[in-house]
Amino acid sequence: MSIKQNVNELLSELPSGVQLVAAAKTMEASKVIEAIDAGVEIIGENYIQEAEEKYNIIGNRTKWHFIGHLQRNKVKKAVQIFDLIETVDSVEIASVIDKRCKEICKIMPVLIEINSGEEEQKSGVMPECAVSVIKEISQFGNIKIMGLMTMGPLAGEPEESRPYFIKTRDLFEYIKSLDLTGVEMKYLSMGMTNSYRIAMQEGANIVRIGSKIFGPRIN
Ligand SMILES: *Cc1c(COP(=O)(O)O)cnc(C)c1O
Repeated sequence: MSIKQNVNELLSELPSGVQLVAAAKTMEASKVIEAIDAGVEIIGENYIQEAEEKYNIIGNRTKWHFIGHLQRNKVKKAVQIFDLIETVDSVEIASVIDKRCKEICKIMPVLIEINSGEEEQKSGVMPECAVSVIKEISQFGNIKIMGLMTMGPLAGEPEESRPYFIKTRDLFEYIKSLDLTGVEMKYLSMGMTNSYRIAMQEGANIVRIGSKIFGPRIN
């Protein structure tokens, strides 16, 4: 199957309210362009340097979402390239994003990454800390909180992801019900190649899909 066929198949399957992010880590610019030509409107990248190389070739014909773990020293570049940062997981990194955005007069839309599996070594905000972290981040003038993102523990069977998607969706609905100033709970980003159908059943309206579009990653 070609990238074009894969994208067409996916786009015809996703309901209109669900946005497709093509997760393009390790994929060269020509493949990303193939996906864009086939109808992908958002590219997800995990590494700033890799994203920058492709951004310099492709530019703003597509939207760019950051879906990796963001380090402080990469924020300045990140805020120049990305339209949405999906993986904000601390007040500290948010404060750096805010500072760098002020310098370029940009309001950065972000999602808060939730560590829905509550795994010590994983990134993401623990569910029980989400409200307080979101309240603090919402004070930053150059950041706009637009929703939540989660990975969930790496599961064998797709069905094993469901409880973590449900937990994140419940949190999303709860935070929405609080109606916090400057916080919009609009996007819920959950699900990858093996789990996107379950994620959509549980309320995801952004799915991040790599291998089903580009084929398996070799390196
Ligand atoms: C790589 C990646 C994906 C896509 O993974 P696939 O299993 O290839 O679909 C989604 N989200 C994040 C954060 C990723 O790093």
